[in-house]
Amino acid sequence: MANKVLKMETPKNEPILGYMPGSPERLALKEELKFRKSTVYNIPMVIGGKEIYTNEVADIFPPHELSHKIGHYHKGDAGHVRQAIDAALQAREKWAALAWEERSAIFLKAADLISGPYRASINAATMLGQSKNVYQAEIDAACEFADFLRFNVYYASEIYADQPLSVNGVRNSVEYRPLEGFVYAITPFNFTAIAANLCAAPAMMGNVVVWKPSPYQIYSAWTIMEIFREAGLPDGIINMIFTEPIETSDIILSHRDFAGVHFTGSTFVFQEIWKAIGKNIDRFKSYPRIVGETGGKDFTVAHPSADTDVLATAILRGAFEYQGQKCSACSRAYIPASLWDVTWEKMYAALKDFRQGSTEDFSTMMNAVISEDAYKRITRYIDQAKSNPNNIIMFGGGYNKKEGYFIEPTVILTKDPRSQTMVEEIFGPVLTIYVYDDELFEQTLELIDTTSDYALTGAIIAQDTYVIEHMKNRLTNSAGNFYVNDKCTGAVVGQQPFGGARKSGTNDKAGSKLNLLRWVSPRTVKENYLSPRYYTYPYMTEE
Ligand code: NAD
Repeated sequence: MANKVLKMETPKNEPILGYMPGSPERLALKEELKFRKSTVYNIPMVIGGKEIYTNEVADIFPPHELSHKIGHYHKGDAGHVRQAIDAALQAREKWAALAWEERSAIFLKAADLISGPYRASINAATMLGQSKNVYQAEIDAACEFADFLRFNVYYASEIYADQPLSVNGVRNSVEYRPLEGFVYAITPFNFTAIAANLCAAPAMMGNVVVWKPSPYQIYSAWTIMEIFREAGLPDGIINMIFTEPIETSDIILSHRDFAGVHFTGSTFVFQEIWKAIGKNIDRFKSYPRIVGETGGKDFTVAHPSADTDVLATAILRGAFEYQGQKCSACSRAYIPASLWDVTWEKMYAALKDFRQGSTEDFSTMMNAVISEDAYKRITRYIDQAKSNPNNIIMFGGGYNKKEGYFIEPTVILTKDPRSQTMVEEIFGPVLTIYVYDDELFEQTLELIDTTSDYALTGAIIAQDTYVIEHMKNRLTNSAGNFYVNDKCTGAVVGQQPFGGARKSGTNDKAGSKLNLLRWVSPRTVKENYLSPRYYTYPYMTEE
């Protein structure tokens, strides 16, 4: 009997736990880390609810401890991609028809599992598999993951309740149908919560999903699947495959029932996906939804009125937390000459104290970068920067991979504001600073706006209200997430909907109504109570 409409209170953000010595959460997490370090996870694909093991496996090591195997996953081939599509399409009708109160309950239960019994597990998986320290894991894998689910259920309820006017004699309604086909979720390595949300958001709106996680996030992807399954997600709604990306895209992006892609990753890959969709546009049943959040070259700019403690902290946290591997990480900073000496003194004092190492050492600020490829890419940038006569390496610049992929926090001071490391996304712990003449503040704003193709995040540090207002206006199109007197990372679901424009993505704002609307195809229904019974209108009567 469905004679009811449920009431829901506005969700609250999941509290960030402190993990202080002796706290219960710290003890539970240490236990879980110990358990996981003594276990080798055997991770299958999941297609139509079945666990698929193959003959080809790839090993998983913590990026900070390459000698210690923590698991392996089973690789799939083209056949598995097709099976995943079929399983999704088979599950579609029943899932699309399921009452919202039942569908939403699955995701709310998953959120409670994350904040409760699975908290240590999803955090430990993220700490070991992606080399995030405890705080970085907590804000991502526990808090943001739970927030995405709870807030999206709330926003979806608001969307469903958004109905047109019914007038005397006419009943109007809008049905928010899921897309006709399946959604392809392609997810990055750097946020467990993003990986989960790219699948969960379309699924919540009644869609079925084929999910290809990053090979570097599979260890925590498996825990995500465990949570969804325990929460009661039926078989076939999210199908997780570990297949070659190009082959997978070739199959999916030419399938008649491909209905949309939910992507987060690099700009290059997103553009390849978009091109393939364009090339195949006549093959699809519907016009696919293309949602992609991509790269960034995020800035912090200080005005001469800035508080230098705030400035130094915003830059250091923004640039180096999670080794700079956040799309929102500060990788270029603009500091007025009048504040440079004192700001650098503060930055240097802090940098000297940064500890870097294993995520199991709770005193670390920084850990390892994700992979051999990332290590090579980032160190190449550092080497090129070292050989540029316009640059001075103010801090770091060293790296070694004896135990793990460790790269020192690196600060480059450049005389050329359009040098390579001021322009290109590096996605590592490398910050380039340009010190500008105080008199050239306006020109510096112009420089910030035109230096890079991206427009994801940006931070301004200033005390003068008129200046803050002016900077907000002047940099309107330079960032999709704009921060005043704060670091340019750390968007919170429900508070700062996240996404950027220009080459940073379609700016559909993950964890907001705007994103959920991309996963529905509304049908408008008009019903007459007393319908017209003859074709004539009153005006047709003779004088
Ligand atoms: P990536 O582009 O290397 O990989 C992302 C995903 O795409 C992975 O699952 C990968 O296997 C897959 N992939 C690679 N080639 C593909 C192809 N041809 N077809 C289909 N899938 C393919 O990115 P990454 O290293 O995992 O993540 C880092 C990037 O993600 C950075 O550029 C960062 O800025 C961006 N990012 C953006 C946001 C945002 O919200 N804007 C958030 C997180 C990360």
